[in-house]
Amino acid sequence: MNKIQMVTPLVEMDGDEMTRILWQMIKDQLITPFVDLKTEYYDLGLLHRNETKDQVTVDAANATKRLGVAVKCATITPNKQRMVEYPQLTEMWKSPNGTIRSILDGTVFRAPILIDCIHPVVKNWKLPITIARHAYGDVYKSVDMYTTEPGECTMTFKGESGEEKTLLVQKVDGPAVWQGAHNKEKSIRSFARACFQYAIDTKQDLWFSTKDTIAKIYDGEFKKVFEEEFENYKARFEELGITYFYTLIDDAVARVIRSKGGFIWACKNYDGDVMSDMVSTAFGSLAMMTSVLVAPDGTTEYEAAHGTVTKHYYKHLKGEATSTNPMATIFAWTGALRKRGQLDGIDELVTFAGQLEASCFETLSAGIMTKDLVGLVDEGFEAHAVTSAEFIAAIRQRLEAKR
Ligand code: NAP
Ligand code: MG
Repeated sequence: MNKIQMVTPLVEMDGDEMTRILWQMIKDQLITPFVDLKTEYYDLGLLHRNETKDQVTVDAANATKRLGVAVKCATITPNKQRMVEYPQLTEMWKSPNGTIRSILDGTVFRAPILIDCIHPVVKNWKLPITIARHAYGDVYKSVDMYTTEPGECTMTFKGESGEEKTLLVQKVDGPAVWQGAHNKEKSIRSFARACFQYAIDTKQDLWFSTKDTIAKIYDGEFKKVFEEEFENYKARFEELGITYFYTLIDDAVARVIRSKGGFIWACKNYDGDVMSDMVSTAFGSLAMMTSVLVAPDGTTEYEAAHGTVTKHYYKHLKGEATSTNPMATIFAWTGALRKRGQLDGIDELVTFAGQLEASCFETLSAGIMTKDLVGLVDEGFEAHAVTSAEFIAAIRQRLEAKR
């Protein structure tokens, strides 16, 4: 069998724990037997990040900028407990996803993988809902304080030119809490561009919601920037028959619940945090959520939304075969291969990505799935749990039949 030839390499970012094990299985069983895989490999495993003083993460992000498409395995973001678990760590390294996101100036889009035998909790949802969360500022970069006596609080901006602006926040007659938040126009604009770009790439409508009736200047700025940016994408939207739709966040929530799905919902930072958990839970399982980071210039990095599945890894280390779901990680690979194929004009690679995804769906439809999904299937559907290795082997069998 002739392997599919690639032209430009993908940026491959390896990761940690159970997902690192799955990563190798997916490559060995589902990709390299069929594709003459070209990647620029970066090991973002925690220990290698430590050895390179996290330079490897920066290098991987810069390579992504250069090559345009990356695929990333889940990685450990160290916390205090990890510092104890890995005593060789010289620093509590920052989240690789955060580092990559800020270098690419990207927005994260999360969408569930839907399958026939698992119905979303919201029965009218027939198509995936993709959430785009603005990942800068607002309450996540705010300051807050508690005061104990009557008094007043003002907010002052001091411009470098010497210009000053002061507003009375509130006069209070007793103890109070206060919060100062901000966002940057540049960040809002990048967010808007990434959203319009991704809507075009995936040919889906784009919804955007804020509370500009209350936060007239703050949220009003988000609304205005989106409107301004839309002018640059309008013609493409019309050609593709997709729409941009702005509404208030409370109206959006009601409409989303009543919708069929099949669109992108762009949310401010806090709304995106809350709504992405609601949407992903209603669709089923974290193990079925895909995630893609899109830069304003269209550079993309694909990954699974879940973490490194630590508990399963410790079972694996004890020699137990685990039933960890590789779907979102497989779809990170198919997403990246498809995108690479589209950019380089390699139709075979695009076709292969579709065949691999179809093989996954057929395996699940045959009732062969990992443990996490067995408990979610519709009543009357017969499913049995297999190990990750067995699941991947079943996919391989179906993929071979298509090649
Ligand atoms: P997690 O790895 O997503 O796992 C949480 C739980 O969700 C698992 O224990 C498992 O439940 C279930 N689960 C998640 N993915 C699954 C899969 N593919 N198949 C089957 N079950 C799955 O989250 P975490 O335990 O909070 O975090 C572990 C590490 O991942 C942390 O060090 C964190 O920093 C890192 N992390 C990385 C990323 C990223 O790189 N994008 C994202 C999030 C977290 P059961 O144990 O009940 O089976
Ligand atoms: Mg959250």
